[in-house]
Amino acid sequence: MGIVVENVSKQFGSFQAVQDVSLEIETGALVALLGPSGSGKSTLLRLIAGLETPDAGKIFLTGRDATHQSVQERNIGFVFQHYALFKHMTVRKNIAFGLEIRKTPKSKTKARVDELLELVQLKGLGDRYPSQLSGGQRQRVALARALAVEPQVLLLDEPFGALDAKVRKDLRVWLRRLHDEVHVTTVFVTHDQEEAMEVSDKIVVMNKGQVEQIGTPAEIYDHPATAFVMSFVGPVNVLPSTSRMFEASGLEPTHPDVFLRPHDLLVETSPNGATVPAKVKRVTHLGWEIQIELAMEDGQVVNVHLDRDRFKALNLEPGQRVYIKPKDAKSFPLHYSI
Ligand code: ATP
Repeated sequence: MGIVVENVSKQFGSFQAVQDVSLEIETGALVALLGPSGSGKSTLLRLIAGLETPDAGKIFLTGRDATHQSVQERNIGFVFQHYALFKHMTVRKNIAFGLEIRKTPKSKTKARVDELLELVQLKGLGDRYPSQLSGGQRQRVALARALAVEPQVLLLDEPFGALDAKVRKDLRVWLRRLHDEVHVTTVFVTHDQEEAMEVSDKIVVMNKGQVEQIGTPAEIYDHPATAFVMSFVGPVNVLPSTSRMFEASGLEPTHPDVFLRPHDLLVETSPNGATVPAKVKRVTHLGWEIQIELAMEDGQVVNVHLDRDRFKALNLEPGQRVYIKPKDAKSFPLHYSI
């Protein structure tokens, strides 16, 4: 195992930031810690790094108990959201920094820096200063610097958080490719579910200092373990179990709330068996998908996502009457909190 976290807790004053968290991360995996603001993601990352000491529990890195090791002893590479590069040093010098501290021979350092510049696609920019780079380029330098000393674990805290949407998207793809080349065990913190789904092998969903679910992006999306995971990862309608829509569907709700993904609704223009009537209130184009707000006869509003072809085939307009039926819906055990 690359990283093992065993019953780790951390309190700040009277606030429980991380509560009895256990997880295992395979060597070479790329794992996202996903959760809302304040859910304890950064604290867990800092505990793995050795920047915080756990109140209870243990942390193992590549099989060794690292709970009482210093940050330096843990041999970890870091990249933070606003990772300040050394302004007065060129890109080359920045990347070489850790190697020079370790008194690596000059020729070896040069070769490693060349290799890393190529890896992060910044060949030719080695002599520039950070101020002469774009935000995305700077984060790539930060990543190269973190990788220079061949860390056993790479920890990224919202590494693309400060960048604009387009650059962020490009860097996600780039990070995934980079990871496929270097295979260093990597944990990255994000509150963006799309980013977590796109980049990682596995996602750890956190809420209120605890782990709600660990799984592949598909497992998390298709088989959410809790109501929190279902509503945090992907769009959802929350409907009362008494809704007429569920009467004919055979669902036996275990909770007064039923969760329904907007793409898990069948929409027809004429009644079809178990369908119930609804009226189109609003049509919003979201690119390749169309969102339709529907009002049922009991006044309940439900969102549906249709692909363009289906939308065109139905030819929907506000005010139109449609007939709907759930294709899939979930209800969770009675006790949960969001
Ligand atoms: P965000 O996405 O906003 O960074 P997060 O999930 O990473 O959130 P953490 O940064 O781990 O959350 O913080 C969890 C909670 O612990 C927050 O309520 C935060 O205020 C608190 N906290 C974190 N570090 C400290 C500290 N050093 N002293 C006191 N409270 C802290």
